[in-house]
Amino acid sequence: TSSTEGLQAFGEKHVTKGLGRITEGIMMRGKGSYVEYDNGRRMLDFTCGIGVTNLGHCHPKVSQAAADQCMNIVHAQCSIAFHEPYLRLIEKLLPMMPHPSLDSFFFWNSGTEVVEAAIKMARTVTGRQNVICMQGGYHGRTYGAMGVTRSKTVYSEGFFPVMGGVFVIPFPFWHQFGLPPSTPTSTLVTQSLYQLELLLAQQTSPRDTAAIIIEPVLGEGGYVPAPPEFLRGLREVCDKHGIMLIVDEVQSGFARTGKNFFIEYSGVKPDILLMAKGLANGFPLSGVVSRKEITDKLAPGSMGGTYAGNAVACAAAVAVADAMKEENILANVNTRSTELFDALHALQKDPALAQHILDVRGQGLMVCVEFASPAGPGAQHDPARGLQTPKGLASRVAKRCIEKGMLILTTSAYEVVRFIPPLNISAEDMRKGTEIFAMAVIEVVN
Ligand code: PMP
Repeated sequence: TSSTEGLQAFGEKHVTKGLGRITEGIMMRGKGSYVEYDNGRRMLDFTCGIGVTNLGHCHPKVSQAAADQCMNIVHAQCSIAFHEPYLRLIEKLLPMMPHPSLDSFFFWNSGTEVVEAAIKMARTVTGRQNVICMQGGYHGRTYGAMGVTRSKTVYSEGFFPVMGGVFVIPFPFWHQFGLPPSTPTSTLVTQSLYQLELLLAQQTSPRDTAAIIIEPVLGEGGYVPAPPEFLRGLREVCDKHGIMLIVDEVQSGFARTGKNFFIEYSGVKPDILLMAKGLANGFPLSGVVSRKEITDKLAPGSMGGTYAGNAVACAAAVAVADAMKEENILANVNTRSTELFDALHALQKDPALAQHILDVRGQGLMVCVEFASPAGPGAQHDPARGLQTPKGLASRVAKRCIEKGMLILTTSAYEVVRFIPPLNISAEDMRKGTEIFAMAVIEVVN
C-alpha cells in the first residue's frame, strides 16, 4: 500500500470544490517533461502546470539555486531592504526586455497581482479611471483582474459587481465577429480597431481612459496570437491620446512563443509589461516592468506586499534566465514548434478528420487545435467538479490523451485543446505527444 492511501478521498472531502481538477490521484514528483502520480503512473506533461514549468519539472540548476538561497535568507522583505537575488534578477532581465525603455521593475507573487498593480499604476499616473480590455482576455480572478477578464463567465458568475470603469473591444479573432476561420487577418484587424475608435467616441472619452490592457496571445480565450498590425494600431491610438498600453505576457512570455516576449514580433513598445509563470519555472514570482519616468510617479509604499519578490523565487528566476541562454531555449522552441505544427496540419489534412478540425493556430509552443462544434460557442460549468469544460470534442480528446499518459488542457469557451509543452522538450517526446494526440482524436471521432 502506498503512503498516500486514503489521501485522495481526504482531499475530496476537505478541499474546496471551487478548485477544478482534470486528473485523479496525487502528483508526487516531476522530472523534465514528465510527472509521476502516487500509483506510479508517469505522464508526459503538455500543460507545464499551465505554462509555468517551461524548463521542465525540477530543473537541476533552478532547484539548486532555490535550495542554496534557502540556506542564505528566505524572507528578505522587499519593503525593508533590497536583497541580492532581486537585483541580480533585474540585471538578467534588462537585456531580455522587448524595448530598452523598460527599465524599472518590481516583483510580486502571481500574475493576477501584477495586473492589479498595472491598473493602479495607469490610473494614478494618468489621473484617469477607465480601462479598455479585450473580449476573450484573461487576467485573473481578483476583483480588478476579474473586471478586465472576458474569456469565460465561470470566473465572474455569481461574483458581481467587479471593478468598474471597464470597456471592451473585440480581439481580432474570427469567432468574435461570427466569421469563418478563413477570414483575412486584415479584415479582423480593421474591425477591431474600428470598434476601438467607436468606443473612444461613444463610451469612454480618451481623457477618461487610463489604459488598454491586452494579452498579445489570448490564452484562456483560445490561444489566438494578435496580428502585429493590430498591436501597432493599438500603440498608435495610445500615443495619440496619452493612454497607457499594458501588455500582459504572463502566459506568452519567456520564450513560449519563440521570442522572449511575443510583443517583439510587432516591434511595439509597451508602457507596462507583465510577466509571471515561466519567469521562475514554478516558484511564485511575477513582475511589472515600466519606464522609470512612470514608476517615479508612484508614492513609496503604494506598491508592495508581504511576500512580493521573495528571495528564493528570485534566485530561482536568476537560474531560469541563465539556463534559457545556456540551453539555447529559443532555438529549441522554434524547431519543436515546426514539428508540432507539421503534425497538427497533417491531422487537419486527413480526409477522415478534416471536418472535425476547424483551426490549428498559435505561435512557438503556445499552440492549439480547435474542433468543430455543432452546438456553437459556449462553455458548460460542471457544478459537480467545479470544472468549466467545453461540451464536445475538445474535452473528450483531452480526456482520452490523459488516459493514454499525456496531460493536456482545453481552453476557452470554444472547443479548443491547447499544447503547452516544456520549451526544452526533446524531439522524441514531442513525437510521442503528437502521436498520443492523433490517436486520441481518431478514437474520439470514430
Ligand atoms: N494573465 C494571464 C495572461 C494569464 O494567463 C494568467 C494565468 N492563467 C494570469 C494573468 C493570472 O496569473 P496567476 O494565475 O499567476 O494569478
